[in-house]
Formats: sequence, structure tokens, C-alpha cells
Amino acid sequence: MRFHVCTLFPEFFASALASTMLQKAQERGAVEFVLHNIRDYAEDKHRVTDDAPYGGGQGMVMKPEPVVAALEALDTGAERPWRVLLSPQGRRFSQQDAAALAQRPALALICGRYEGVDDRVRQFVDEELSIGDYILSGGEAAALVVIDAVSRLLPGVLGCEFSAADESFSQGLLEYPQYTRPPEFRGLVVPEVLRSGDHGAIARWRRQEALRRTYERRPDLLVQATLTEEDRAFLATLSRRADG
Ligand code: SAH
Repeated sequence: MRFHVCTLFPEFFASALASTMLQKAQERGAVEFVLHNIRDYAEDKHRVTDDAPYGGGQGMVMKPEPVVAALEALDTGAERPWRVLLSPQGRRFSQQDAAALAQRPALALICGRYEGVDDRVRQFVDEELSIGDYILSGGEAAALVVIDAVSRLLPGVLGCEFSAADESFSQGLLEYPQYTRPPEFRGLVVPEVLRSGDHGAIARWRRQEALRRTYERRPDLLVQATLTEEDRAFLATLSRRADG
């Protein structure tokens, strides 16, 4: 998977992309990061990338030409990266989006700055994603979020001791609680079943705890989750308990 990042601040990415997981993934050839400075695609002599907004108002808007030129430079005959504009006005980025993006051979992540990009840029992108309902000062932090969430789904990025399959959201539920040694910490004891060695009982407990967590904290997720009859019966006991 090749991640192209179009940004005015390529230096923003240096330490994050050198972090252990992503560095190792690059060395193994599982991912490649290519940073493109949008300024390099400005045609005028001063390499201007932003300008005052039409209609007046505060701040500056990123000009469309350099952004679109940067994107078009990435299209080779063989490859056209899937273009993602990071924007607070986009669809809320989810684990499902991460899984879908992980299927693409190449992505182009476009980071805005200032008041954002000229609205016409939206006509040249495939998808607009937001990482949440708040305003960042630039798309770089959002692009890193997408890079992290997508990369760890790619083969060869997480070590084989890790698994993304059980994690929160991957099955439409929050993950069950996790424990490690010691068995007792400040009077708090690891649930007995996890130390029982009974794999069937452990799997059942984990499923029920995942359902309980999701029910308590994110009931909105249950609407979309794939549930068995047994799951529904368990959830019914939770809601009866809540009613009583
Ligand atoms: N004036 C714009 C916000 C611009 S913020 C508005 O009100 O909609 C500047 C840049 O930061 C944006 O172009 C975008 O690339 C990035 N950004 C800010 N918040 C974001 C979010 N929640 N998700 C993804 N990108 C975001």
C-alpha cells in the first residue's frame, strides 16, 4: 500500500512515520509513504498556495490549482491513487472506512490548512473524511489518524502476535475487557474464568462482556452489529436488569 500525502507541512510527518510500527512496516515493504509538498506545485514565482476568500472574511483559503496539480501528478498510467480529502465536513471516519481504504493499492491524502481548501477541489477527490466533530488547524493530524488506522489492517504491519479481528468496532461491538498479570492488583482480581483454561467458557464470557460494554457505553453500535440469537437473549437479560 502506498500512501501519498499532499501537505504544506511535510515535516509534520517525520517523527510519526519513524515510529516503531510504521518504520518496521516500511522496512518490510508493507507500506510506503510519499510526502508531497503542495507548494512545489504552485506555478507562480513566489509559490503562493493560499489567497483571501472571495466575499471577504477572515483567514486564507488554499488555492485549487496547486492542490489539484499535486493530485494529478500522482496519476501514472498504471496507478491512480484513491483521493481522500481530510475535512471536518466529510463523513465521519470509521473502522469500516479504514477497512475499505486498506483494500486500495494507493491512497492520496489531502491535508488542508488555514480556512480550508477552495471548494472546487472537492470535485477532484473520491471521498471526504472527517476524524470527528471538532476543528483541527490542519489536515495533517487527521491524515496521521487515517494512516495509523489503515496501516495496522495491512498484512505485515502488526506482528502476527496481534490481531485486528477481535478489536473494538471490527465486529460492530466494543472489545471485551483485557487483563494481564498480576492476577490481583490492589484488591482487583482478574475474572476467574480467564484463568480457567476453559476456552469455550472464555469465548462465551468475552462475547458477553463485549455485548455488555457496548450496551452500556455505545448502545448506538448495537443497531448495526451482527448478533446471534444467543447475543440477543443475553442483551435482553441486561435490559431487564436495567428496567428492574
Ligand atoms: N473553515 C473550515 C475548517 C478548516 S480547518 C470549516 O469550517 O469547515 C483546516 C483544515 O484542517 C481543513 O481543510 C482540513 O483539512 C483539516 N481539518 C480540520 N478539522 C478536521 C477534522 N475534524 N477532520 C479532518 N480534517 C480536519
